Amino acid sequence: MVYQGNRITVTMLEDGIANMQYNAENESVNKFDTETNKQFAEVVNALEKADDIKGLIVTSSKGVFIAGADITEFVASFKQSEEEIKDWVININDAFNRFEDLPFPKVAAINGAALGGGCEMTLVCEYRVMSDKAIIGLPETQLGIFPGFGGTVRSTRVIGIDNALELIATGTPKKALDALKLGLVDATVAADDLQDAAVDLVKKCISGELDWQAKREEKLVPVKLNQLEQAMAFNSAKGMIFAKANPKQYPAPALAIAAIEKHVNLPRDKAIEVEAAGFAKAAKTPQAESLVGLFLSDQLVKKLAKQHSKKAHEINEAAVLGAGIMGGGIAYQAASKGLPIIMKDIKSEQLDLGMGEASKLLGKMVDRGKMTPAKMGETLSRIRPTLNYGDFAETDIVIEAVVENPNVKRAVLKEVEGLVKDDCILASNTSTISITFLAEALERPENFVGMHFFNPVNRMPLVEVIRGEKSSEEAISTTVALATKMGKVPVVVNDCPGFLVNRVLFPYFGAFDLLLKQGADFAHVDKVMEKFGWPMGPAYLIDVVGLDTGVHGAEVMAEGFPDRMKPDYKGAIELLYENKRLGQKNGVGFYKYEMDKRGKPKKVADEATYELLKTTTDSDKQTFEDQAIIDRTMLAFCNETVRCLEDNIVSTPSEADMAMIMGVGFPPFRGGPCRYIDQMGLDNYLALCEKYAYLGKAYEAPQKIRDMAAAGETFYATA
Ligand code: NAD
Repeated sequence: MVYQGNRITVTMLEDGIANMQYNAENESVNKFDTETNKQFAEVVNALEKADDIKGLIVTSSKGVFIAGADITEFVASFKQSEEEIKDWVININDAFNRFEDLPFPKVAAINGAALGGGCEMTLVCEYRVMSDKAIIGLPETQLGIFPGFGGTVRSTRVIGIDNALELIATGTPKKALDALKLGLVDATVAADDLQDAAVDLVKKCISGELDWQAKREEKLVPVKLNQLEQAMAFNSAKGMIFAKANPKQYPAPALAIAAIEKHVNLPRDKAIEVEAAGFAKAAKTPQAESLVGLFLSDQLVKKLAKQHSKKAHEINEAAVLGAGIMGGGIAYQAASKGLPIIMKDIKSEQLDLGMGEASKLLGKMVDRGKMTPAKMGETLSRIRPTLNYGDFAETDIVIEAVVENPNVKRAVLKEVEGLVKDDCILASNTSTISITFLAEALERPENFVGMHFFNPVNRMPLVEVIRGEKSSEEAISTTVALATKMGKVPVVVNDCPGFLVNRVLFPYFGAFDLLLKQGADFAHVDKVMEKFGWPMGPAYLIDVVGLDTGVHGAEVMAEGFPDRMKPDYKGAIELLYENKRLGQKNGVGFYKYEMDKRGKPKKVADEATYELLKTTTDSDKQTFEDQAIIDRTMLAFCNETVRCLEDNIVSTPSEADMAMIMGVGFPPFRGGPCRYIDQMGLDNYLALCEKYAYLGKAYEAPQKIRDMAAAGETFYATA
């Protein structure tokens, strides 16, 4: 035994070959946490002293190789100053560099995911051999940072500038064959042969058959490209990378490129210093704080879903009522995740439409080579379209997705309750009707919950699971388990008009309407909000949602929260709706829609909209600075999010932020409405609320914000 720790051990195998194994005790994965970094430095000390080692392999005892750094530690680490963060990573790099410099060859045996620091660990070895089931990559930019354990330095030397830039800027991990093609690994083998292959490679190094010193040397020196070749590599990569993500919104790839540009002509130790400085700069950006926070929130939401699922009944078969936009989508999603589902409608043409949509989606996957025709057939056969309730006695859960009409829904739910087994869960996909109210029609209201999917179901990750007054824990649990089984992220919320996401979205539409009334141009508002980071501005969004749906939702919200959601004027959305402009669905809303070459609706400006809006716009038209547009709409949005926390509609800021990002596309790099308030500073936020309070209650700061500001609190401990 050369070294024994509870994160890493080093043992001797045979013929002077050592096995450095990552095997974090009592942990499901290996990661670079403080303790692992400490032990790695101790390992290097021990290896430097050992005189009987001729070669070494790096292995893992877990299913993953090394998952990367411990992201939970980033929160505290990134609170340090930029200089301290730089020193912190340089200190860790010292062990990596000394490991690289050991006087014998080293081969990484990559058995599972080697991500971030895990990939960087393999890059300090001279050779890498990979299981054909493993993946490898540098996903750090997805967290708003970039590789800091020498990853930008060594990858550029090993696979070339253009490949390294692509690997780092996109953050997408590579499968074994792709990694081999890139030269990121030297061989791929079947999982069972991995260790033997690694030992074999080390032996070839020891015998001199492989020139491992040359392999090491190329990582210690500047990149071998002349100035012109370098300029070309950087320019083409920048064009491609910045076209994918706006560097103002997601600065990490740009910072990585800048660091790499600076260090490609430097020897390793100097290059590592440049990387460390750039890493520290990225770590201090608000985007890194948001994206690291989001990663942790995502983990929390998944953990909560697991806890919520504890009382779940087994689900072997589901049913959906309604084969419309949502019912069809729900049936497709269940079937594609392996769950048999009955799809019932009252119109056979709707059933055909639902099945047609499912075939279209699956057909696209077959076209892209992501699914075989046989698998497509198998998936489709899991959906059983029907016009009657024949098979409902066996089903474990019924999702109701019929028209948004309380009377129809109550009648349908009551009818189906009489036909299913006693413990069958009933869930409604209503977007606006109170779950407690719908439950009144039922004999077993405890078995009833809301299960709110978003459109399009196959693409939108969020499902709100709504607890009515009488919903049982088993019903919540089973619905959460079903959402997870369907590949969705469930967030449990309490019942209120609009639940969580729509309750927050409508004040935002209200703020938009008020801006238009006072003279703002809807196309300009869209531009400003898209620049702010929304995938689409409010006018375009309401066109996609449908103005009929919008107006109906607004009525429900106005009744539920008249103090801040009932305007005393007719807004643009209502006016356009009255003029039969329903949005994308009938080709005219705020914009006009024309089909592009691929048959997708493309929005174009429409003079007729401006003519119509003249009738609702104040005569003393105002002009608005971009910042005023952002502040007014975001105050309405964020205030309502906080009110949902105040009213216990949603339990934690993490769930609220995740729901807004997944449900309506809140800009992820801003971390969600609660993070947005934190980053603005609660006092600044309060001041903004005061500035706009004259516009109405929606803009007034909720009491919770006042209390938090007075107590010096923030939503997240990191702010
Ligand atoms: P839709 O009009 O496309 O589909 C409704 C379907 O229900 C139709 O096929 C209709 O024939 C069928 N139907 C009516 N009565 C029925 C009955 N008694 N039994 C079986 N089927 C019946 O509507 P949609 O957009 O799919 O919306 C369905 C539900 O989902 C509504 O409650 C809606 O509020 C909610 N929702 C819609 C969206 C959206 O963006 N479309 C998003 C989230 C939630």
